[in-house]
Amino acid sequence: MTHILVINSGSSSLKYRLLSIGDGDGGGNGDGDGQGTAVRLASGLVERIGEPGSPVADHGAALDAVSAELASAGFGIDSPELTAIGHRVVHGGRDFTEPTLITDEVAERIERLIPLAPLHNPANLAGIEVARRIRPDLPQVAVFDTAFHCTVPAAAATYAIDRETAERYGIRRYGFHGTSHAYVSRAAAGLADRPGPGGPNVIVLHLGNGASASAVAGGRCVETSMGLTPLEGLVMGTRSGDVDPGVLMHLRREAGMEVERIDELLNRRSGLLGLCGDNDMRAVEKRVAAGDPEAELAHAVYCHRLRKYVGAYYAVLGTVDVIAFTGGIGENSSLVRERALSGLEALGIVLDAGLNAAGEGVISAGGSRVKVAVVPTDEELEIARQTLDVISRTDRG
Ligand code: AMP
Repeated sequence: MTHILVINSGSSSLKYRLLSIGDGDGGGNGDGDGQGTAVRLASGLVERIGEPGSPVADHGAALDAVSAELASAGFGIDSPELTAIGHRVVHGGRDFTEPTLITDEVAERIERLIPLAPLHNPANLAGIEVARRIRPDLPQVAVFDTAFHCTVPAAAATYAIDRETAERYGIRRYGFHGTSHAYVSRAAAGLADRPGPGGPNVIVLHLGNGASASAVAGGRCVETSMGLTPLEGLVMGTRSGDVDPGVLMHLRREAGMEVERIDELLNRRSGLLGLCGDNDMRAVEKRVAAGDPEAELAHAVYCHRLRKYVGAYYAVLGTVDVIAFTGGIGENSSLVRERALSGLEALGIVLDAGLNAAGEGVISAGGSRVKVAVVPTDEELEIARQTLDVISRTDRG
């Protein structure tokens, strides 16, 4: 067994998990999913980094706090048992198509990608820099949110805009939430009954605060809903997802809005929040149950978009073996699952109302040609596994 520390460093928070992972004894508390053994040794979250009045001044202080928490759990960050640190990095651009051992040069390349992810990559880098300073002796691995989508074919990844402009500015569909789509599609593929010769075809619906869909054919991602940035695609908590790009020009010309304000409108004041004033699906559904028309419209727009993507990805794949719901909403809202997939018997999709209400594992009816399942995601475990893969390969090489 190997100890791997996973760090997910955001702009104002730092999530961590220490895992013992490998093909060891199989026992232990949690993080087992039939895909190998992993035991969670410690985990936590440091919040309000750099906010006024917060005791955590910066990412260095945040990692000090993590270090102290790990030490009190009996696993100091200086422990010789710690084998590697895996870092979540949001944007790998075209440079990074797989998890990568971090060197000075790799860190520089991640820095050069900041214009593609101005909110995320600097925070990810801050975590990397601090961790490398504390344990310069340890292998550290960057696991990119975009990497799983690098197999999306050109026909799906290319925007139909002037080629030269697109090339110059790196404009294409990259996709995000890749570690979640990788983890969930693999687990979902294991549920398929009689997959075709290329392996199971899976549609993954990752529905959390952010939301994205992917189509995965025989383990390879062939289509995904997020694009150059995590704004495209499904309706989210505060993000619009798809809108006519003409809306941006209209707002610029008619409302005189600056680009920063349009950015803020579409990323922070749209989606469920913009439609009904609540971005938390639990609150929206409480209002739906009470007959609130604004919440009902927000919920209807949300589910309509989802259903449209399921149909589109069904057509992209040709046949579908499993549809997997994950993320806070995907795992917990039976109403969203029901509204997104009802009436699709002709496509071989038949939910079982009782199983959907229970919301665990397979939720489709016995005779449903397409299996529908709730598959809890685990991005930290996936990052740990990919980190382990990289260091095993490095050791062998
Ligand atoms: P995540 O970003 O994956 O943590 O997901 C957050 C979203 O999941 C929020 O919109 C929550 O309201 C939603 N969520 C969590 N639990 C439930 C639930 N029981 N029913 C509906 N939505 C839920």
